[in-house]
Amino acid sequence: METSEWVVVGIDNGGTSNNATVLAASGRFLVDRLVELPSRVTEGPEVAIEAMAGAFETVLDLTGIELKTVRGVGLDTPGPASADGVISSKGATNFAQPAWRGFDVRGGLEARLGLPVVYNNDANAAALYAHHVRFRDKAAGHSSVSAIVGTGLGGGVVESGRVVRGAAGMAGELGHVQIPMHGLLAEGQPLPTCNCGFVGDAESVASLTGIERNLLPYWLTRFEDHELGRIADRRQAAKLVRGYGEREDPLALAIFEQQAMAIGRLFTIAANFTDPDTYFLGGGVVETTPRFRQWFLARVREHTALREEQARVATLALVPDLDMAGARGAAIAALEARQAPVRARTSR
Ligand SMILES: [Zn+2]
Repeated sequence: METSEWVVVGIDNGGTSNNATVLAASGRFLVDRLVELPSRVTEGPEVAIEAMAGAFETVLDLTGIELKTVRGVGLDTPGPASADGVISSKGATNFAQPAWRGFDVRGGLEARLGLPVVYNNDANAAALYAHHVRFRDKAAGHSSVSAIVGTGLGGGVVESGRVVRGAAGMAGELGHVQIPMHGLLAEGQPLPTCNCGFVGDAESVASLTGIERNLLPYWLTRFEDHELGRIADRRQAAKLVRGYGEREDPLALAIFEQQAMAIGRLFTIAANFTDPDTYFLGGGVVETTPRFRQWFLARVREHTALREEQARVATLALVPDLDMAGARGAAIAALEARQAPVRARTSR
């Protein structure tokens, strides 16, 4: 068999669906759209592993790829989980069913498929994909940092083309990096708190949860007659803020200005830590109208304090194809593990 003929499969496991892709050894993706199937994670690990195997089989059927040409599988899931894909013993938002606690999802899929499985959390997989799209065959010569704003704030640090995992697999948890609050909070605004127990970390401001829990409750006291104040369901109200931002509503713009500042300050910390070539931003805040996206990116750029030498070489860019980025990044990780197994910390 020619080396160019073998493939790896990427599976992005989420709270509601699995998305799968196929990546040839040459680096070409054989799937150009979302291939989504129900993930059934709420039914526990046994059912969910079967659902992942189903996604694996479906994407092979769809591409006409024979099982014997698959050399490995990349899997990503939401965290918190160890670098080796063991779900937190405290459980996780997406893995609430008790049997998930401490469950080795990577090992479970590996046993089911009889193929080596490489694990990443979802934000790390998306970060790896963004890095490879931007730098292609020069990926190993560059570094990047990704922040993905969603329910939480996911992050990923890529150095010399590889995801930085850390000793406990907890590197790149950018959402829980504490940032200076001086000059960010308005007068009388309480310090924002995060689910992780920290006060004033990036996620406490720059996430949907941050809007619901910290930003919206405060800003509704400053805009007392705002329509959003009449919506009893706070999560629902938080989700509506972006639409108001697109219409340049002052309350919404105040919230997004604080989010942009939080992300800029986070990137400033990254600038002094790994000094990356590219700062990637993804998620709801930039999956919006071009006009609002440009405004938000400009605000983030303004709040990112780079030295002159850094500003000359660094760029701020969007995470591309975010809905497919997890599966594709997971597949890239699997491909790299097959090509250079000794270098990957968790490779088999
Ligand atoms: Zn936190």
